Amino acid sequence: MPYYIGDVIKDYKRLVIRTPEEFQKTGIDARIKTTVEAIDPHKGMVHLLNGPSLPYDILVMATGADAVRLGIPGEDLEGVFTLRNLTDALKMKSYLNEKGCRKAIIIGAGYIGMEMCEALKNLGIEVKVLDILPRPVIRWDAEFAKLILEELSKNQVAFLAETKPLSIEKGNSSKLRLVTNEGVLDADMILIGVGTKRNTKLAESMGLKIGKSGAIQVDAFQRTSSENVYAVGDCCEVFHRVSRKWVYYPLGDIANKQGRIAGQNIGGLSSEFPGIVGAQSFKVFNLEVAATGLTEEEAERDGFQPASNMIWGLPVGRPMARGEKLGIKLIADKKTAKLLGAQTIGEKGAVQRINSLSLALWCGLNLDEISYVDLAYAPPFGGAWDAIHIAAQTLRAKI
Ligand SMILES: Cc1cc2nc3c(=O)[nH]c(=O)nc-3n(C[C@H](O)[C@H](O)[C@H](O)COP(=O)(O)OP(=O)(O)OC[C@H]3O[C@@H](n4cnc5c(N)ncnc54)[C@H](O)[C@@H]3O)c2cc1C
Repeated sequence: MPYYIGDVIKDYKRLVIRTPEEFQKTGIDARIKTTVEAIDPHKGMVHLLNGPSLPYDILVMATGADAVRLGIPGEDLEGVFTLRNLTDALKMKSYLNEKGCRKAIIIGAGYIGMEMCEALKNLGIEVKVLDILPRPVIRWDAEFAKLILEELSKNQVAFLAETKPLSIEKGNSSKLRLVTNEGVLDADMILIGVGTKRNTKLAESMGLKIGKSGAIQVDAFQRTSSENVYAVGDCCEVFHRVSRKWVYYPLGDIANKQGRIAGQNIGGLSSEFPGIVGAQSFKVFNLEVAATGLTEEEAERDGFQPASNMIWGLPVGRPMARGEKLGIKLIADKKTAKLLGAQTIGEKGAVQRINSLSLALWCGLNLDEISYVDLAYAPPFGGAWDAIHIAAQTLRAKI
């Protein structure tokens, strides 16, 4: 959606995987603009808002997540948006096109906030991004945040740290005024991007068990606590292969896989979802930023003894280097030397490295194994000793 808003993807239809009409052709009755108001699991009935009730034998809960609102005065004013679905993106895009926006404020410097900085700058809009925390994308190491801040500043995006929005009002010179603990900011458009909350209302009302993470509890077959009811995607938990815990990880690739597993099981197979390692990435202007596995704090909380190290390596072979940096942070367990997590940043090759490290995590490799793992070598893509090898060897020497 940020790439549609930023005009990289010109036609919103490219974001629609399958229309209701295409579903219809395959015998699936897909109804949009239809709200489920209540579910009666005893009678096997779904009650629609202002509509009929539908019977079911098997039910799949895929209610996703909602955007978190701030609960401050003025957040319902015209020009204030959240970005959760295609309807939000279409509304925002037509507002930006029709209202001649010059200034935007993004509240929340998470990965969606970062992607939206780039999208709005692409449209020639002045952008400020603020957060109550001291640095953007807090999951990543403070050293990486410095590079992100440099990149934002290079692209004339101001980052306002430790800034708390208090209210939004109609503006004079601009359409809106955002009142914060640090002063008043003018904007023509404000995006609230402060996270998502699991949409478990219906699930709770029909008595489904909610896990410790606050999302619907499922097993590896995507079955919930109620017979013949499955749950998939952003409304349910997922098994983390590194922490060996059920966690909440609202990401699209995970939702897709869980959906397929549930479908296979409903269709008569016996498919288990093998879990996740927490791979994730985003782009902000010319920087790739990625992570996988656990952070040090998570590792500690999950009973490991984490040690970490960060190196600045090269994304290409040394003779081809033109000053590009590739940051790799590895986190491993002191007792077993097993990899627990990784973070990368750089102009190129950062996501590629995280994908390799995700496979290492998936297979439970330790630092000695990663130090000699067979990775493709050619100068345009890395050195004979890849930055991954060097990062693993450096951390191994430390623990
Ligand atoms: C701006 C943005 C960028 C993102 N980028 C990435 C990315 O790069 N990589 C990645 O992995 N993930 C990304 N995500 C996350 C990804 O979009 C979600 O993980 C994914 O959409 C989850 O799919 P889902 O089907 O579980 O939930 P959703 O896509 O939220 O769908 C749930 C649906 O259920 C409907 N619904 C809810 N309650 C009811 C009800 N009572 N009756 C009827 N319908 C109901 C909702 O209207 C919604 O259509 C991004 C998210 C956003 C907002």
